[in-house]
Amino acid sequence: MTNDAKACHYVMTLFRSGLLIVLAAGFVLGACAMNPATGKNDFVLMSEKDEIELGSEAHAQIVRQFGGAYEDPALQDYARRVGERIAANSHRKELSYHFTVLDSSEVNAFALPGGYIYITRGLLAYLNSEAELAAVLGHEIGHVTARHSVRQISGTRAAQIGYTIGSVLLPELGNQIGQGLFNVLGGAITSGYGREHELEADRLGAGYLARSGYDPRAMLKVLEVLKNQEVYERQLATEGGRQPKIYHGVFASHPSSDKRLQEAVAYAEQDSNAAPEETHELEDYPAYLDGLVYGDSERAGVVRGEVFYHADLGIGFTLPAQWSSENFPERLVLQSPTRDAVLQVSVEGIEEGQAPREFVRSRNRSRTVQREDVLELAGLETYSAIIEGGTATTPRPERASVIYHQALAYLFVGVGKNREAFERYDADFVAVARSFHPLSETEQGLAAALRIRLLRVDGDLDFAGLAQQSPLAAHPEEQLRLLNQLYPDGVPAPGSLLKIIQ
Ligand SMILES: [Zn+2]
Repeated sequence: MTNDAKACHYVMTLFRSGLLIVLAAGFVLGACAMNPATGKNDFVLMSEKDEIELGSEAHAQIVRQFGGAYEDPALQDYARRVGERIAANSHRKELSYHFTVLDSSEVNAFALPGGYIYITRGLLAYLNSEAELAAVLGHEIGHVTARHSVRQISGTRAAQIGYTIGSVLLPELGNQIGQGLFNVLGGAITSGYGREHELEADRLGAGYLARSGYDPRAMLKVLEVLKNQEVYERQLATEGGRQPKIYHGVFASHPSSDKRLQEAVAYAEQDSNAAPEETHELEDYPAYLDGLVYGDSERAGVVRGEVFYHADLGIGFTLPAQWSSENFPERLVLQSPTRDAVLQVSVEGIEEGQAPREFVRSRNRSRTVQREDVLELAGLETYSAIIEGGTATTPRPERASVIYHQALAYLFVGVGKNREAFERYDADFVAVARSFHPLSETEQGLAAALRIRLLRVDGDLDFAGLAQQSPLAAHPEEQLRLLNQLYPDGVPAPGSLLKIIQ
């Protein structure tokens, strides 16, 4: 196929948007290139070398953003072996792939350009066979081989590039792309690429599965898992009066009953070189899940009842009654039941010689301190103040409290929707900071993360009974069913292995 006969998709799009100058810039750099997976022409601004550099530059940032790599060398190695097996049967087998299990409870998987592929322990927990793991990795490898992110960057960058056009011809462009990549890509990578690209990744993934000796129907099973997650998440969101957090574009983009997907899987099956027995022999997956952290980890801190415990930092504090909490790698966010106040807790290093008062003030130089309070925590250096925030028309005071403990500063910042809300909740903001304490020995036990354990089904085992004994706080039966692909109403088969939480 030649480049001149067919204008590729992005060029057409650009013409329609009238960005002719951009088009010219694009052709200087990349023009159309044959896509290795689809065999079609793409308009890409980027060479493979740039693509790999981009991936490797963003890798550390992604890992950090998703709680780090999960500390289980055997599991990491297993994911890598399964991934490499699939990659070896892909359209870009010469690429060197990097597979990372992320220490995040989010249910997600995604790929960076250049062969960097990620799956969270949160998603691993819900899979039930090696073929399903292979299906997730195969889907992501499909994004890489079809260069979806690169195509997306090219499209987005082409639209943004207008004012940087002078620098387009400079050799350090590669680095500039690297710097801008994360902003441009961040959203797409971790939340999916839209229906057509998702379907293409599934189709490619199904083919790679079949060629690697896995049953390509695992692709459909994974979609069921994700779909059930979505149903459950919507239920939780409705109960909590919030927006559902739907992570992977695959959720919204197509159901497992999608006719084109069914056809793609059926086609891959015909193409398969695996005997079904072989596929089943490979399913030693559950053993790798025994002991897997479920939900928040010790590294992130856990909420038990109304107390937040952080085992690694050895500290705890009490949440206001009925408040919800969300644990991000760099902060804990607490929200009032009526969602009109937020308290954010973070940990920072301390500059040498800086007292708590100066610590808070140095972060609020341009703002007025309205009042100062004492937290009265025995043996700890602390400071607490109300600081004027917001604007003249919509003032939004903040309660900032800081506590020094073992060379770290714990910062509690509370805000209300408006001044009235702030005044209603200020006592809560202060109470949380005042409840801060080093963990006792008993509390160290409570601070432990929950983990997956395997249980062989015998006799009269049912989910209602398991749910009663479970340490899971909310919807234990639903969570156990989701973990075992028996949601919403399946019955465990006698003799099978069930995942439970301990
Ligand atoms: Zn995808």
